[in-house]
Amino acid sequence: MTSAASESACALCGGPATEAIDPPRRTLARGVDPGDPSYSVTVILPDIGLCAEHSRDVRGGERLVGWCDDQCCRTYGALGEPSACGLPYEKLGPTKRS
Ligand SMILES: [Zn+2]
Ligand SMILES: [Zn+2]
Repeated sequence: MTSAASESACALCGGPATEAIDPPRRTLARGVDPGDPSYSVTVILPDIGLCAEHSRDVRGGERLVGWCDDQCCRTYGALGEPSACGLPYEKLGPTKRS
């Protein structure tokens, strides 16, 4: 392992990333202020590094990239797959709940 730059690794397979796609902005609810349960913040996530193959899959909608917002992780991975902290990667993008 000579490459230590994690941002240059494909989010899905860990291989060398050849492309970076813009992540969606995501509003995350954070219970920072206990007096305001609706407190939320829009975070801008780093670019998603992908290898050529997965970049094609993601753009084509065949694969979905998820995000783990756990403080220990804050990484991308395959949607629904468990991340390093044990929580599954969550869906990116605006979450509209009806
Ligand atoms: Zn890949
Ligand atoms: Zn995690």
